[in-house]
Amino acid sequence: MSRKNKLYEGKAKVLFEGPEPGTIIQYFKDDATAFNAQKTGTLSGKGVVNNHISEYLFKALGNIGIPHHFIERISMREQLVKAVEIIPVEVIVRNIAAGSMSQRLGIEEGTPLPNPLVEFCYKSDELSDPLIAEEHILTFGWAEEQEIDEMMFYALRVNDFLSGMFAGIGIKLVDFKLEFGRFYEDENCITILADEISPDGCRLWDMKTGEKMDKDRFRRDLGGEMEAYQEVARRLGILPSADVTEIADHKNKTSKSRS
Ligand code: UDP
Repeated sequence: MSRKNKLYEGKAKVLFEGPEPGTIIQYFKDDATAFNAQKTGTLSGKGVVNNHISEYLFKALGNIGIPHHFIERISMREQLVKAVEIIPVEVIVRNIAAGSMSQRLGIEEGTPLPNPLVEFCYKSDELSDPLIAEEHILTFGWAEEQEIDEMMFYALRVNDFLSGMFAGIGIKLVDFKLEFGRFYEDENCITILADEISPDGCRLWDMKTGEKMDKDRFRRDLGGEMEAYQEVARRLGILPSADVTEIADHKNKTSKSRS
């Protein structure tokens, strides 16, 4: 890891220069943060599980024609992606009231929404990612009108597809966050899905028991975070046993001690 040129370190991932121009390596860390990094922790093996879950979901979305940055997974914790200019807007899709929306509007958590709701937040750690309207995005030039339309369109398609996929494995997709980027190809600039999709940025509830299988386990001190993330991976048919993350961690430690 030390030989690559580090471009950026975020809360859950580190970005390194990729092997070819226009590529980036995303390294998934075990660090967990909540409430704008006021709460921090380490979930051993989270990076490995999220790397695999995100790979699986991006590939599946690619198969239905959603353009995305994922190229290939290159190790247990790393994936090669296309370099994009991240649009500074988080796109949140909600099917069931939960989290900040429940608090903000006094709607009981668990209330199904009559239609999927798309919200935008301005990506700013200093401002704690405030909720914004489309007009703010246009007024401050964070994205063009066409880009907003594309983000909305893709977000709703991703929601339809993932809702069905998760329902098929007994999980309700309550809400999730997406990020998009500008990818420059010759003269053209296209909007593509970027970042990651994993239980860190989704709310996933077990359909039978209502158990939370996502980062709310960490946010709300419920415990059992890794068991829940691994159960999501297991139901998706990836990471069939918990041993995989243990092996990855062991390898990681031995390669670190060698370097
Ligand atoms: N989310 C995220 N990153 C953020 C904000 C939200 O991944 O910076 C995800 C979050 O995990 C949840 C959805 O977006 O699945 C909606 O989050 P919400 O607005 O309810 O905020 P929270 O309750 O997480 O503060």
